[in-house]
Amino acid sequence: MKTRPLKIALGDLRHDTTGRHSTGMPIGIAYIASYLLARVDPMDVEIRFYDSPHVIIEDIRNWKPSVIGLSSFCWNSDVSHLVFKFAKKILPKVICIAGGPEFPDDHEDCKKYLLERPGIDFFVCLEGEIAFTQLLQKILIGKEASHLKSEPQDGIMAINPNTRELVVGEPIPRLMALDEIPSPYLTGLMDQWFDGCHTPSLETTRGCPFSCGFCFAGRPWFNNLNEFSTERIRAELTYIAKRMTNYTNIPLSICDANYGMFARDEEVAEHIRFLQDTYGWPRAIEVTTGKANYDRILRIASRLRNQMQVTCSLQSLNPKTLKVIRRNNIPLDEYKEIQLEIKRRGMMSVAELIAPLPEETKESFFSGVKAVAEAGVERIIPYTTMTLKQTYIASKECRRNYGMETKFRIIPHGFGEYLGEKCFETEEVCVATNTMPFEDYLECRGFAFISSLFTSEQFDVIHRHIKELKLNAYDYLYQLWESVKSKPTELAKIYEGFIQETKNELWNSKDDIYQYFTNQESYEKLLSGELGDNLLRKYSTEVSLRWFTHAIEMAYSTLRRIGGKAITSDVQRSLDAAREWMIKTRDIGFAGINADFIKSVEYLPLSYDVLGWYNEGADSAHLTAYERPVHYKYSYHTDQIEALMNNAERLYGKDLFFQMGKIIENQNIRTFWRGCELILDITK
Ligand code: SF4
Repeated sequence: MKTRPLKIALGDLRHDTTGRHSTGMPIGIAYIASYLLARVDPMDVEIRFYDSPHVIIEDIRNWKPSVIGLSSFCWNSDVSHLVFKFAKKILPKVICIAGGPEFPDDHEDCKKYLLERPGIDFFVCLEGEIAFTQLLQKILIGKEASHLKSEPQDGIMAINPNTRELVVGEPIPRLMALDEIPSPYLTGLMDQWFDGCHTPSLETTRGCPFSCGFCFAGRPWFNNLNEFSTERIRAELTYIAKRMTNYTNIPLSICDANYGMFARDEEVAEHIRFLQDTYGWPRAIEVTTGKANYDRILRIASRLRNQMQVTCSLQSLNPKTLKVIRRNNIPLDEYKEIQLEIKRRGMMSVAELIAPLPEETKESFFSGVKAVAEAGVERIIPYTTMTLKQTYIASKECRRNYGMETKFRIIPHGFGEYLGEKCFETEEVCVATNTMPFEDYLECRGFAFISSLFTSEQFDVIHRHIKELKLNAYDYLYQLWESVKSKPTELAKIYEGFIQETKNELWNSKDDIYQYFTNQESYEKLLSGELGDNLLRKYSTEVSLRWFTHAIEMAYSTLRRIGGKAITSDVQRSLDAAREWMIKTRDIGFAGINADFIKSVEYLPLSYDVLGWYNEGADSAHLTAYERPVHYKYSYHTDQIEALMNNAERLYGKDLFFQMGKIIENQNIRTFWRGCELILDITK
């Protein structure tokens, strides 16, 4: 029998060397703990939770847990293993249990994975609650780890210490009634995370009815949808909201695969709206919206004051690609209708694309962007294909059939130094296929960068011009891309830097990454931010903070060039006024950095009432109809910016550039826009 209580350390570790990769409360390990506590005598166990590698290392030294359970995602599997190794060194009898999607599919690869990581005793596969609890129940009655590893444990893999062979337990069916996991919020298990440094996270459902071949949740095992009860979710959300009144800028994160798609989601949304009205939280909701039932999703978004971004993901528009990745997009006509509806509701439409996917070519990718832009999508977000473990895309068959060439890169901000050892999280990405050579991938990525940058919310006024002047959104982006590439401007330097780093961030193997960055001089490049960031975020932030006026000038000159006869002298004058107004209101360069500057007030006369036009929304008359001399006063929302920046340091760390990048990426960038007030309509 083990000493009681059994000390259990559970961690979902995140590097925070130069800003935290993820700010979510570690709900996954809390569900596991909660399920366990309901099935053992709570007096028999003492559980502590961790998200910081430094803190768990200290506790391993001082508190000396008997069991350590750590999650294994692509952003923390290496640091988790480093912690396991350390624990084994100083506590030889400690039992180390890993679990999560960062684990191979093929049994030969699983064996290799575990043999290379002797710090892991057990790897819990798929849903963790039942398998972890059953294992702990056996440990609690005194079974030895070496014995447990030599015979199959349900839902778990291990290496038999005697034979060095892989021991595979029977798969455990999924938990159907999720309320069997008591709420970790309502039982107080999550209380330590209400510190203003973490985003409350919860699941309302588990599973996904779709089968996308690039996604872990696309496996048939996840196809059924299981729910937590509405009553329980309501109670959890209320519990959270009451504790977030001092941190109202911190968003709520709903970790479902398809929020908004199901009838029950409306009930949850209704309750969130009640909390918004009652407690002023949440002001933003991080969520992945569903891939169908957009009428419902839009209704929900409106109910939530449009503080939930609706993403109409397509990933590819090439039918051959979609067949390979087992994905059915909604028909383009329907998609266009949805975009119109999104705009009618004053929201921003967003689409994600991935490249290179099997069967995609440079031409099909560009025509995909064209279709998306012409459908009215305002924000296009491109991703490089990740070959996530346990997905079809990562299978040997897929790699072979489509000539997938992969490389490795560091996960943004996923590195640190612990116990004198440098540690790097890496991901494998596809950068070429038998239909898209590497050079074409670079072109696609370059075009995608420009599309993503110039379709961001910062350029919302330009989207209005394009629509109003009946210009082609794709032509605009394509011409913009050509201009950026061909003209010797600051933007061209940034573009070149982006392409160069897109090449330089790739390595042939994980070992190569370790070899290069373990050297202190190279490691300094990660610490300084010169390398190791998310490139789309890094370079977009660079433009938004330092070269925004240049970007606006280029956007307007491109409008002029593609506008042809639509740009009469009247229109040109109105566009000049709008450009001035945009520079005054949208340039956020100083907003987050200079505390005095955000208190400044400026005035600007214009010969067009751009504010009046803007406020009328998408159904306004043409901007030229607003010709009248006006005088505007511009000032920042100082209190809101200060509150946002205070939270930003707690959430993302001290690096201001990183903070701003994360805010631009995840939060409401409009907070930084300068407010504009009409103080004098000179015609009156
Ligand atoms: S990408 Fe989204 S829709 Fe597709 S399987 Fe994954 S979670 Fe489901």
